[in-house]
Amino acid sequence: VKPVSFEYRAPATVDEAVSVLAEDPARTTVLAGGQSLLIELRYRTARPRVILDVNQVGGLDGLGVEDESLRIGALVRHAQLEHLDLDDPVAALMAAAAPSLAHPPIRARGTFAGSLAYAHPAAEWGALAVALDATVVLMSSAGERQVPAASWFRGPFSTARRPDELVTSVAVPLLGPGWGVAFSEHRRTHGTFAQVAVLAAVRIDNGRVRGARLGVAGGADRPLRATGAEGVLAGAEPHDDLFREAGAAAAAEADPVAEPHCSVDYRRHLVDVLTRRVLAQAAAWN
Ligand SMILES: Cc1cc2nc3c(=O)[nH]c(=O)nc-3n(C[C@H](O)[C@H](O)[C@H](O)COP(=O)(O)OP(=O)(O)OC[C@H]3O[C@@H](n4cnc5c(N)ncnc54)[C@H](O)[C@@H]3O)c2cc1C
Repeated sequence: VKPVSFEYRAPATVDEAVSVLAEDPARTTVLAGGQSLLIELRYRTARPRVILDVNQVGGLDGLGVEDESLRIGALVRHAQLEHLDLDDPVAALMAAAAPSLAHPPIRARGTFAGSLAYAHPAAEWGALAVALDATVVLMSSAGERQVPAASWFRGPFSTARRPDELVTSVAVPLLGPGWGVAFSEHRRTHGTFAQVAVLAAVRIDNGRVRGARLGVAGGADRPLRATGAEGVLAGAEPHDDLFREAGAAAAAEADPVAEPHCSVDYRRHLVDVLTRRVLAQAAAWN
């Protein structure tokens, strides 16, 4: 199948991009890395009247630390986060997760912001965004708006973005010293989306868990922050029994969706096993 005919626009500034979006928001689709959109166009599951290519827009490629957060511009590619030169456990977590995201050519083009905008329920960056309290920054002709990751994802391929809004960047708070991190994923074959992926950040002080973040991809119809399991860990002594309890709590709060190769029970089992695994690895970090 070939894409439907569309008008192609490639503005050079955010202001111009936002005015193109404002002309016909419901029938205009943003093109970033194109690694999901081009497939949708080919299958005609996306039938836009206008394609707004933002790859020439100045200022969207910024990547750096601002106000104790990693500010990721809308054109920052997955591969840049895989090889991030930053002395913070967030960089280690991104480096651990990124190799599970598709293949190197896809990571060279696809963007972090595009992944959050696409909102695949099993996307690694979605799990990271909810676990680390990221903020999505949007621009429209009405001005800037910020949406916390916790209220960004509305369901499979559905977000809080309004049709006239462009995601301009995402801010991921740094963790700082003392945090250990880990990532683990199960998928059918290399280069496919995860059946389940779990990532953890854990801070242990004086033999007790003083901070825990758990993000799950593929555990529900949207990225899941396993707050129940985080609660099990809070203030407790880190050991295998505790991680088993936390794994069971994460599995209980998961609400998986069945797929032909992955039943609800199997997904729940993966959440349990992978949660235990990442907690043990993150706790052993220091
Ligand atoms: C074979 C294959 C395997 C893959 N495996 C994985 C995987 O394991 N894990 C994973 O997470 N992803 C995977 N992907 C998807 C890939 O990560 C995409 O890069 C990502 O989902 C979308 O990023 P993009 O920049 O390519 O966005 P695009 O394809 O350009 O856009 C995707 C959607 O987001 C919207 N959008 C993008 N940027 C913006 C913006 N700035 N503002 C508003 N809307 C925007 C677009 O309008 C479109 O609807 C895979 C892709 C392929 C082809």
